[in-house]
Amino acid sequence: MSQLAYRRILLKLSGEALMGDEDYGIDPKVIHRLAEEIIEAQAAGAEIALVIGGGNIFRGAGLAAGGMDRVTGDQMGMLATVINALAMQDALEKLGAKVRVMSAIKINDVCEDYIRRRAIRHLEKGRITIFAAGTGNPFFTTDSGAALRSIEIGADLLLKATKVDGVYDSDPKKNPDATRFDRLTYDEVIGRNLQVMDTAAFALCRDSDMPLRIFDMDQPGQLLRILEGEPIGTLVQGRG
Ligand code: UDP
Repeated sequence: MSQLAYRRILLKLSGEALMGDEDYGIDPKVIHRLAEEIIEAQAAGAEIALVIGGGNIFRGAGLAAGGMDRVTGDQMGMLATVINALAMQDALEKLGAKVRVMSAIKINDVCEDYIRRRAIRHLEKGRITIFAAGTGNPFFTTDSGAALRSIEIGADLLLKATKVDGVYDSDPKKNPDATRFDRLTYDEVIGRNLQVMDTAAFALCRDSDMPLRIFDMDQPGQLLRILEGEPIGTLVQGRG
């Protein structure tokens, strides 16, 4: 077993990370690969919590832009995250992992209700624990849900998987001269308005000193390498 730099982590995956090259929904090959990487990291000795977004199915803001009541749209978005959590639970279990899904909104015919102390117990027992339905409140995102849960469970690191290899000063897909930051403070991220997570999520992490690493999970093996202490992507930590 390798020596890990972090014992307990929370990994945030966007719903879009499950889509692969599709326009909507879940690509079974992609979720299988992600599940393999998560299990590999767990086998190395980490306690792993997951938060998965719902943007591959519904986002409240998008539904509201189409004329739907925002709160109803957000509730649909939260339910979409439960669908993704169940899909990930299935993919992980097919590979032999022990998994629990806990939802912030009560839907306990399909998964457990979120209870903090029980969540910590699951992690201690080596169960990959998936937190579904974000914060349980409309007008929030799963980034805020991930920040909140990482603090509640006492994670050593919050990881956000994206499609780019860290935080840049401008969009690297549009600007070839964009520069990547190795490290940033939370105040720098908020002050420069770097759109990697929403401000509520950043503020929560800043106020609780939760370190955050943003990295590209499309590149295989990155998750384990980060847990082993490699400085991959961008680390956001501290104030000022
Ligand atoms: N959502 C919400 N409250 C939360 C978390 C999520 O209302 O605490 C809703 C919101 O509509 C959001 C949708 O669920 O757009 C899906 O989550 P998110 O957009 O964060 O997913 P991602 O972009 O990570 O796929």
